[in-house]
Amino acid sequence: THFGFQSVPEEEKEQKVYEVFENVAGSYDLMNDTMSVGIHRLWKDLFMRRLSPAPGTKLVDVAGGTGDIAFRFLQFAGNESSRPSTFNQMPNPLTQDFDIKLPKEVEMGLFVDPAESQVDDSSSSSSDEEGDRLRPGSRAATHVTVCDINQAMLDVGKQRADKLGFTSGISWVQGNAEDLQFEDNSFDAYTIAFGIRNCTNVQQVLNEAHRVLKPGGRFMCLEFSQVTNPLLRSVYDSYSFNVIPVMGQVIARDWKSYQYLVESIRQFPDQEEFADMIRDSGLRMVTYENLTFGIAAIHSGFKL
Ligand code: SAM
Repeated sequence: THFGFQSVPEEEKEQKVYEVFENVAGSYDLMNDTMSVGIHRLWKDLFMRRLSPAPGTKLVDVAGGTGDIAFRFLQFAGNESSRPSTFNQMPNPLTQDFDIKLPKEVEMGLFVDPAESQVDDSSSSSSDEEGDRLRPGSRAATHVTVCDINQAMLDVGKQRADKLGFTSGISWVQGNAEDLQFEDNSFDAYTIAFGIRNCTNVQQVLNEAHRVLKPGGRFMCLEFSQVTNPLLRSVYDSYSFNVIPVMGQVIARDWKSYQYLVESIRQFPDQEEFADMIRDSGLRMVTYENLTFGIAAIHSGFKL
């Protein structure tokens, strides 16, 4: 094949993938927006709505990169204390990464939702029951552990967390999805978004997901998948093979990394095959949902 990475032996894949994300970390978020014309944000929003985490959920977001899933999770399920004080004035997702100036009041956190300031008051006063109920930390704390093999991606994620005001309820851990450092039965939910196809041994990743989930816990994966309609598929193929590496070259001066990303999408199992692999890990009630004609898919399963 003329696409160099396809012939890479298994044991070198991990190193190659590492280098790809080392190279793209700084431009990763911008490239995501450009290549998918912003659609990845909608997919991620939907992914989080499908998970619909309740406050108090303990999530591990594997291959969590620069935090896109973790931040959505905290917005959705976060305790008062883990949400930014400007929660209701979160920067417009379409502008947040482009250093667009926000009104001074927003930046200074002066636009505080009245409901939120009440919560703050109640945590400083002590006795009344209503206050107790609302006080941050009075119930199990919502928490997300972002795990990624690449420290450069995590570092970008931490900077974004600071910028967005997520100060608690989040920890960043460097680690390999195929060999997680967490105990058995540790998490209520496990997410992996656009990460599993980069792993050398996908089945091993799924087995680890099953292991670290608590009984009753939910596995959710968002990943590129196979476009089923043949006509749309040929349009999509020519877009991804011809346009994406060029964009990679122009925006990030990095043709090869983006060519690799396109190839890895093509080689990933289709919706049904992947669902079977998830079942093989021991997860049950496995379902999937196609997004945008199957360009991406959400797979879900439970540890029973
Ligand atoms: N989940 C994030 C998102 O949706 O924006 C990041 C996705 S990014 C395309 C893929 C991530 O997978 C990279 O940050 C990369 O470092 C990470 N990754 C690749 N192989 C991994 C492995 N074996 N274990 C953990 N993370 C891995």
